[in-house]
Amino acid sequence: MSAKRVCPRCEQDYVQPYRFKTDGACFTLCAECDSLWWPHETIRVPQAHFLDEVVAARLGVEDNPWGDLVWTDVFEPAPELQR
Ligand SMILES: [Zn+2]
Repeated sequence: MSAKRVCPRCEQDYVQPYRFKTDGACFTLCAECDSLWWPHETIRVPQAHFLDEVVAARLGVEDNPWGDLVWTDVFEPAPELQR
């Protein structure tokens, strides 16, 4: 197990590994402020993506990607980040 890392953006929660259900792509997410990092990125504020934008891009929609979806429809916790 790797050491827990506090989110550098909000400093309110730990970042955790998740993966998309569709293709298993892994990422790191702060569930508090929805900041997302890909495995090759350093978990720092300048590199942070926004979860909604990433999901919208993957679903091919313009704005709010969620609609009737909830997080667990789209991705799930990963046991460990795959690099
Ligand atoms: Zn955060």
